[in-house]
Amino acid sequence: MKAIQVQKTGGPEVLTLVDLPVPKPKANEAVVKIAAIGVNFIDVYFREGRYPAALPFVDGQEAAGTVTEVGSEVKTVKPGDRVAYTGVIGAYAEYAAVPADRLLHVPDKITDEQASAAMLQGMTAHYLVNSTYPLKKGETVLIHAAAGGVGLLLVQMARNIGARSIGTVGTEEKAKLAREAGADEVILYAQKDFEVETKRLTENKGVHVVYDGVGKSTFEKGLNVLRPRGYMVLFGGASGAVPPFDPIALSQKGSLFLTRPSLVHYIATRQELEQRSSDVFNMIIAGKLKLRIGHVYKLEEVQQAHRDLEGRKTTGKILLAP
Ligand code: NDP
Repeated sequence: MKAIQVQKTGGPEVLTLVDLPVPKPKANEAVVKIAAIGVNFIDVYFREGRYPAALPFVDGQEAAGTVTEVGSEVKTVKPGDRVAYTGVIGAYAEYAAVPADRLLHVPDKITDEQASAAMLQGMTAHYLVNSTYPLKKGETVLIHAAAGGVGLLLVQMARNIGARSIGTVGTEEKAKLAREAGADEVILYAQKDFEVETKRLTENKGVHVVYDGVGKSTFEKGLNVLRPRGYMVLFGGASGAVPPFDPIALSQKGSLFLTRPSLVHYIATRQELEQRSSDVFNMIIAGKLKLRIGHVYKLEEVQQAHRDLEGRKTTGKILLAP
């Protein structure tokens, strides 16, 4: 089978097309014939070595497809079932062996592309607004990279809750997408200082919560636009990692809260995984959450997909087709 392996960490050029045997399932695993693969920023972190993994490894951790074979202990899925998953490395391939307790049945009304697009970023947006900081109607939220994969979903979920959202974006095209998704205000943060603008838009009151997946270039100013006792939810570092930070600043800037959450801890139990994924699928089926699939690349075009993602050229979700 075709797969994309990382043999040494580095830039997009280390993503190498290889021919590997189709995996055999362990007792607790199912083999999935992959129909659509989600590309995420975390795949870049693994490729670079920012998140460590034993070499060589097949990158990618989000996909949807059909079960072809199951291990002896697997009772929850069977060959022919349509499934999706996230959080198991090895998705940039035609087949993957996945622990059965991480597989979710995909409803008939959801396509493979939608399922693979909804898993990682959909459940992330869901836990950020419902569990990390439960966003409430009438509150004001700042969402960075609001036209990105997680960003567009956060904007829609904030709108559904009835919160006022301010989104930051890199270009006019992205501003239009964020507005269409329901952002009340959009700031082009390459042209305007988002700290000044956010203070202006909130009449110096500040926002209740900042959802920041951009990190290095936005974190510090983000702290300055929070209300007293506001929440800085730093969930990624697309622009780079935030440097070491002295917690006294949280006190000086208004007894702020800071958290650095990760999806893995919000879908750790089977019950939470099922609850979150079914909430996301139901929002899609009900038309309350629209997935924007910005581009589908062939598996062989994975280097370009990473270049585009890192180069801020993508909007919404990007996928690979095996
Ligand atoms: P996006 O589609 O949002 O792409 C990243 C966006 O970040 C870019 O399009 C760009 O938007 C913005 N950006 C700002 N500065 C830079 C920079 N220097 N280089 C690259 N991009 C930059 O990606 P994802 O939706 O996949 O992920 C968004 C963030 O969420 C990532 O940091 C990711 O790690 C994190 N994440 C965290 C999870 C968690 O559980 N903690 C789970 C899922 C994702 P613009 O041009 O508008 O500035």
